[in-house]
Formats: sequence, C-alpha cells, structure tokens
Amino acid sequence: MTKLAIMGAMEEEIEPLLSHFKDVNIVEFANNKYYEVNYNGLDIVIAYSKIGKVFASLTATTMIEKFGCDTLLFSGVAGAINPKLQIGDLIIADKLCQHDLDITAFGHPNGFVPGGSVFVETSKELRDVATQVANENDLKVIVGTIATGDQFVHSTERKNFIESTFKADALEMEGASVAVVCDALDIPFFVLRAISDSADMDAGFDFDEFLKSSAVNSANYLIKIVEKLNK
Ligand code: SAH
Repeated sequence: MTKLAIMGAMEEEIEPLLSHFKDVNIVEFANNKYYEVNYNGLDIVIAYSKIGKVFASLTATTMIEKFGCDTLLFSGVAGAINPKLQIGDLIIADKLCQHDLDITAFGHPNGFVPGGSVFVETSKELRDVATQVANENDLKVIVGTIATGDQFVHSTERKNFIESTFKADALEMEGASVAVVCDALDIPFFVLRAISDSADMDAGFDFDEFLKSSAVNSANYLIKIVEKLNK
C-alpha cells in the first residue's frame, strides 16, 4: 500500500476522520473536495462523495485514477436488516450487491447485468486485519452482505424483498458501486458501516437521531484499522 483512499458518502461520515488526521491539504476536483493527509508516513486521501451510487462511483474512480490510491476503505452508516444489528453496531461487508438493479424482465436475476455479477467480494486480507483489530479492541463486528441502491429504504416491504432476494444483513446507498469500481480497477477495498436505523418506518427519524454517533463509531474503528495497516 502506497496511498490509501478513505471514503464516506456524507460530510458527517468523514468529519471525525478529518479532525483526527488534522493538517489536511484540500484539492478541488469535479465539484468535490479531496483532503490529502500524511499520517505517520502514510499518504491518505479522504473524501465524501455525496449520496448515491453515481457520486460514489465518481469519487472512488477519482481517488484511484487521479490521486493514485491503491487501497480503498469506505466508512459510513447503514440501515440494518439482520436483527442482530442494533443501532451503533458495526458491519464489514464480505460482499455487496445492487438491490435496485433490475432487468429481470429478460430472465436475469435481480442485481445482475451481463458482464457483471450479482455480488462483488471485498478484500479478504483487509477483512482479516479488520477482524483482528476488532478482537484486540473487544469490538463486536458482524461480517456480512451489504445491499446498495439509490433509495433510502424506510419500509418493511422493501426491506423484506432485499432480505429474501439477496440474504443481505444491511443496506445503504453507495457500497456496491464502490465495489464495482475497485473490482474493475483491481484495487483492494472494504466497506465498513455502523447502523443508523433499521430501514423500517422509523428509519427517517432514527437516521437523523443517530447519524452522527454511528458515523463516529465507524470512523473510530476505521482509524484503528488504518493504524494496524500502517505498522
Ligand atoms: N438525511 C440526508 C439523506 C440521508 S440518505 C439528507 O437529507 O441529505 C442515507 C445515507 O445513509 C446514505 O448515504 C446511505 O448510504 C446511508 N443509509 C443509512 N440508512 C439507510 C437506509 N435505511 N436506506 C438507505 N441508505 C441508508
């Protein structure tokens, strides 16, 4: 690893990282800000993409192709599907899918288009480091499937569809698009999320209430992982 990309979708998700790493150099590109830092000798670029798959793809591609990042870590919040996940809990994706990608009219499975695959796997090496850090710090982390789509899910009906179709443990709006980009460009990556809501009818309310604290949970864990990676 020579240059690390750390991404979030919303400002609240990277703010705790920026205040931890300090001394940032801001580069503006493509209607966004990229924050360069050097942390104990390691070059890091931090950015929040804005919400959704398109902005997330743009930011991930930019960090890799323009800034030369060769590893990417995503930190943010998500809605829980797995009942074991409570607000504030951490999940690391072992694979991700796009729950709103639908050409089933032609007999293809949900989440699939020709040339792609329903699931994209994250880096096992990075996951192993994350699990080791969790064990050393007594953190409870679930490793599971994250489903991504351009919708804030706040209904049991949609949530149940995503659960039964993809066996997903959590859902959000960026992870799988970042996964597709990193997979295509051969960049090891993972997606870490802390739960902000349960994607049910209280989701909007819970999200507003818990965005900040859950984003901090995710960021704090991510910082420990970065420290381990930089040893
Ligand atoms: N309140 C914000 C919108 C938040 S959208 C605004 O008004 O601007 C939700 C964000 O958190 C997305 O980036 C998504 O990745 C994640 N997320 C958390 N809970 C989610 C849910 N239930 N459904 C979809 N995405 C969710």
